[in-house]
Amino acid sequence: MDTRDLTTAEKAALTSGADFWHTTAVGDLPQIMVTDGPHGVRKQATDPSQLGILSSEPATCFPPAVAMSSTWDPELVGRVGVALAEECLAMGVSVLLGPGVNLKRTPLGGRNFEYFAEDPLLTGMLATAWVRGLQSRGVGASLKHFAVNSQETDRMRVSADVDERTLRELYLRAFARVVRQAQPWTVMCAYNKVNGVHASQHHWLLTEVLRDEWGFEGVVVSDWGAVVDRVAAVRAGLDLTMPGPDAAGDAALARAVEDGTLDPAALDTSAARVRALVGHAAAAADPSATYDRDVHHALAREVAGRGVVLLKNDSDLLPLPGEGTSVAVIGEFARTPRYQGGGSSQVNPTRLDNALDAITASTSASVTFAAGYPLEDTGDERLVAEAVEAARAADVAVVFAGSIEETEGRDRTGLDLPATHLALIERVAEANPRTVVVLSNGAVLLTTPWDRSVPAVVEGWLLGQAGGAAIADVLFGRVNPAGRLTETIPHRLADHPSYLDVPGEAGHVRYGEGLHVGYRGFDAREQEVAYPFGHGLSYTTFEYGTATASIVDGGVEVRVPVTNSGTRDGREVVQVYASLPGSPVRRAPRGLAGFASVPIAAGQTVDVTILVERDELAYWDPRLGRWAVEGGEYHLAVGASSRDLRTTVTIEVPGDDTRAPLTADSTLGEWLADPKGGELLAEAMAAAMAPGEGAATPNIVADPDIFLFLAAVPLGRLASFPGSPITDAAVDMLVAAANS
Ligand code: BGC
Repeated sequence: MDTRDLTTAEKAALTSGADFWHTTAVGDLPQIMVTDGPHGVRKQATDPSQLGILSSEPATCFPPAVAMSSTWDPELVGRVGVALAEECLAMGVSVLLGPGVNLKRTPLGGRNFEYFAEDPLLTGMLATAWVRGLQSRGVGASLKHFAVNSQETDRMRVSADVDERTLRELYLRAFARVVRQAQPWTVMCAYNKVNGVHASQHHWLLTEVLRDEWGFEGVVVSDWGAVVDRVAAVRAGLDLTMPGPDAAGDAALARAVEDGTLDPAALDTSAARVRALVGHAAAAADPSATYDRDVHHALAREVAGRGVVLLKNDSDLLPLPGEGTSVAVIGEFARTPRYQGGGSSQVNPTRLDNALDAITASTSASVTFAAGYPLEDTGDERLVAEAVEAARAADVAVVFAGSIEETEGRDRTGLDLPATHLALIERVAEANPRTVVVLSNGAVLLTTPWDRSVPAVVEGWLLGQAGGAAIADVLFGRVNPAGRLTETIPHRLADHPSYLDVPGEAGHVRYGEGLHVGYRGFDAREQEVAYPFGHGLSYTTFEYGTATASIVDGGVEVRVPVTNSGTRDGREVVQVYASLPGSPVRRAPRGLAGFASVPIAAGQTVDVTILVERDELAYWDPRLGRWAVEGGEYHLAVGASSRDLRTTVTIEVPGDDTRAPLTADSTLGEWLADPKGGELLAEAMAAAMAPGEGAATPNIVADPDIFLFLAAVPLGRLASFPGSPITDAAVDMLVAAANS
């Protein structure tokens, strides 16, 4: 879009906000509203010159990403995107600040509840569906926080120090998928630095990767307060600084253009992008839009029910029969639910279900209630004694426990349940062996060792405003659980791959586990876990037939028959994990390469087809500076979790050319491993060894014992050894011939 009609000052003004939540109106270009996000619309009811976290207009509080992602169902997540757009339109909001696609690198991450998974494919596929749903109704997304914002500790300054392969293969991968497949209207840069450079002024990240490689066409907006230097930010490719106003920054930009320190084209481009965004948004605005609160509440309940993960269910204690049972509902969380985390994503719900009321209203079970603990984590022996009494008198005890900690701005300090909740579970389980524990938490909590003393554990995450009803649906079998873990539950925090490096010190956090994030690291170290990535039980059972695979356009198609062998209709999340045994490229033992959430009626068999995209088999080759698929026999293991693999199919996948150019710095081993280089070198050696020429020097290439200890010597270095059979001139000729 053209900006020739604007003055430099107007262009600069366009690139910063008018207040906390609006862009700046310039000439006849109106302002638009952007707001949080991601699991509901947090439209401030008060003065927009403020952050106003706790005073927003009522909106549906959908399940935060932690629960939504546990559905592993892009179709369902897409419907949430559509519903969010309807609410945005009704409230005059043009851009919703989400989704958050940072990886759950550490279970301590304060914002893990806003993020999807410890796996980039799952994150990317779900977030793509969410963005498509939202934008299909003319409301823009803001893909955040770009990039490597996986902790809250020192989040505005810390440098995430990550090697290139890990960055590409793990932390940038979900962003790349969403940008390429859904073209979000905006991308929000992170607060932190990436390898020493502020994300807000990271040219490589914001321009070379995001735009030049991935083809991003929208606006890069700053996280609120992430910009340190307006000129450096615009130069790097950041378009819109929020919040505003920032008169000093606008003036600095104008000055930089005048004194030649900023290319005027950079400001033109950013201003034009903001203008295009506003034009787009203004055209989609619909002052007459409304939405149906009941319909959205029902959707929130559906998603919440689908997000619940049944971790354990010994002797099929669940589902509970409604008729003729007495249930002791225990725990303040049953009455006062924990349903979202703290910080900028906090929604003011249109209504709020609680599990106690939902159980009482929706079943004919006889229900008693005991609070068990006060909301603040202080012990109260009287409350415990009442709970024990209620548990003893009932057929089944259901204890609601969980964490109270998760919030933006601060990481958690540990993974334990509050001491009062732990003690309560122990005492209730002693009083009644038929005890179910329902957890409310925004990121994993340890279940070891207390889960051994109860037969059933329901992971209820943070379920949004309809979570109470959804929990009742699951407990009494109106919903057959189909949620799956998107993060590993370890036995101990110290087992976690990130443990030694998080949260870093002196302004740096090292991503020392590299590629081995989450389950990849647990698998690589063959470590026992409490519940693996992908795990989740159902009230029915599924049997897998034999998987088959074939090469198709775009990748490998995996097919597997899955049978519901139980008596209830259910839904299985079929997961495909890829590995390439014997690969010389360092890899995790297996990585999620495809999945499908499939409804299967009792007794039925469904032929499930999953496409493993060829790109999912690729690794980033830092020598070549590009993605490459190694050729070879891939193992595609199909099953119900990362550690419950039922059938494996192998398939030969043709590779890309991964030959790196041979140089004087390539080792003898590298020369010989290369078909052409190896032949040339062997010929050169044989010639040098010809009678009369250096015959006293052994032929190091032909003699395996000598070769073993010389394989790591660069060819050029060999040439510098006194009496070497290979001269500097020969090296030059070899290099030229090998790469010709
Ligand atoms: C958060 C963003 C949020 C923004 C606006 C920041 O503190 O990191 O996720 O969108 O505030 O509230």
